[in-house]
Parts: sequence; C-alpha cells; structure tokens
Amino acid sequence: MEKPKSPKPAKMSLASSAAAKKPARTKPAARKKPATRRRKIPYTPEEIREIFRRFSVQRPEPKGELEHVNPFTLVVAVALSAQATDAGVNKATRALFAVADTPEKMLALGEDKVRDYIKTIGLYRNKAKNVIALSQKLVDEFGGEVPRTEAELVTLPGVGRKTANVVMSMAFGVPTLAVDTHVFRIGNRLKIAPGKTPDEVEQAFLKIIPEDYLFHAHHWLILHGRYCCKARKPECERCVIADICKSPEKTTDVPAPLVELPAQIV
Ligand code: SF4
Repeated sequence: MEKPKSPKPAKMSLASSAAAKKPARTKPAARKKPATRRRKIPYTPEEIREIFRRFSVQRPEPKGELEHVNPFTLVVAVALSAQATDAGVNKATRALFAVADTPEKMLALGEDKVRDYIKTIGLYRNKAKNVIALSQKLVDEFGGEVPRTEAELVTLPGVGRKTANVVMSMAFGVPTLAVDTHVFRIGNRLKIAPGKTPDEVEQAFLKIIPEDYLFHAHHWLILHGRYCCKARKPECERCVIADICKSPEKTTDVPAPLVELPAQIV
C-alpha cells in the first residue's frame, strides 16, 4: 500500500516542519476514552422514557411475588429465593410464617423445624442455618428489627446486595435496582444497560432510568423478563416495546397493544 507522501499542511512553525513531514501514525493518547465514561447505548433518552412509560401503563402498581407479612419475613423469603422460584418459596413460607413471623419466634422454632418447613426449596439445609443465624443476629445486634441500610443488611447471614436492595425497596420504599437474572438479561439483550456483572448492569440502569420511574423499575423489569422477554425465547409478539427494542434477538417491530395487566401473576 502506498504511504502518504506528506501529511496535510497545518498551521505550524518552521521549527516543527521537519516533524510534520512524517506521516502521523499513532493516535494521540489523549483521545483514549477514560475507563469511567458511560458506554454508548443505542437508545435516546426519549426512547428510554417511553419504554418505562409503557411499563407503567401495563402495571401501574407492580408488586413483588414473594409473600411476606413484615420486613423480617421479607428478608427470610428473599434469602430463601436464591436458586428457587417465588412460587416454590411461597408454598413453603406460608406455613412457616404462620408460626414464626419474628426473629424471636424463628429462634424458638429452631433449625430442625425450620428445615422441615422449607425442605421443598433447593439448598434448604444451608438456608435453614442462615435463617436461624440471621434471626440470632437481628435479636443480638438490631433489637429484633430489620436494619434499613444496605451496609447493615449485608452483614446478615445469607443476605447479599441483591437481597438487601429488594428489602430496602419493598419494605422501606427506597428506590434501588436489585439486579436478578431477568434484569441482567434485559440490560444486555436489549443493549440498554450492558454489563458483564450485576453491579455493572445495576450502575448502567441507574444512569438511564428516569427518576420518576425508578421506584417501580425493578419490578417492571423482572415481570417483563419473567413473562415476556423470556430467557430461552423472547415472546416479542406480546411485547409492548417491540418497536423501540434494539435487541438483535427480537422477532417483530410491531408492539403489542398497551393494556393494563395484573400487578402480580403467580
Ligand atoms: S421485542 Fe423481544 S427482545 Fe425486545 S424487549 Fe420485547 S420481548 Fe424482549
């Protein structure tokens, strides 16, 4: 390939003209994007607002599907839901929470009985241990109350960031965005909040979700992922954002009619 004979003349002094004869080969380092710069996504802010507006019409008051009667039973239910379905957890916890809806009652019940109640849930032995340990910690260090901050919640056995975010949002009304398998998939599949880890996806979503939609965004995304943008095969013909979606996997550009759906489907 022919090399350029000389670079384009630019405004420069004679002293620098010798250097100017060399073709510029490398890009100046200054052009490198800083690592923290937001990743470019193929959606305009108006499109993002429209996506969440449609979700809000579909489910004006979305609800989580895990049954609970107070913040404590919510912590327990979310902790039990790891690698289990919400419906499966609800089946087991209905009877458990009828006899133990506080940390004190859970401790009185004891690990063996807790294990019996939840034995239909995956990893139940370890989960029963955690339920007792977290009840003990709540009694010993938090006066039997569920703490309200993420920093405190994650100190409870069996409680990670995702559980903490769900509890903060559902029990205390703090707008957070817990990234579960559905939220993670939607962020990446739609290229709307791409990331290699749940934390990256969470940060990406938090940067783009309009503030007035943030409170319900977690449930809208979960329900959309669970019932429409499914893992194996998205059901695009039932999707209300099919015209906006930029996923290479989508199968139609025609959005489904925008009608209100049940807040909770079990
Ligand atoms: S159009 Fe298809 S891929 Fe896009 S969000 Fe809807 S269901 Fe998912």
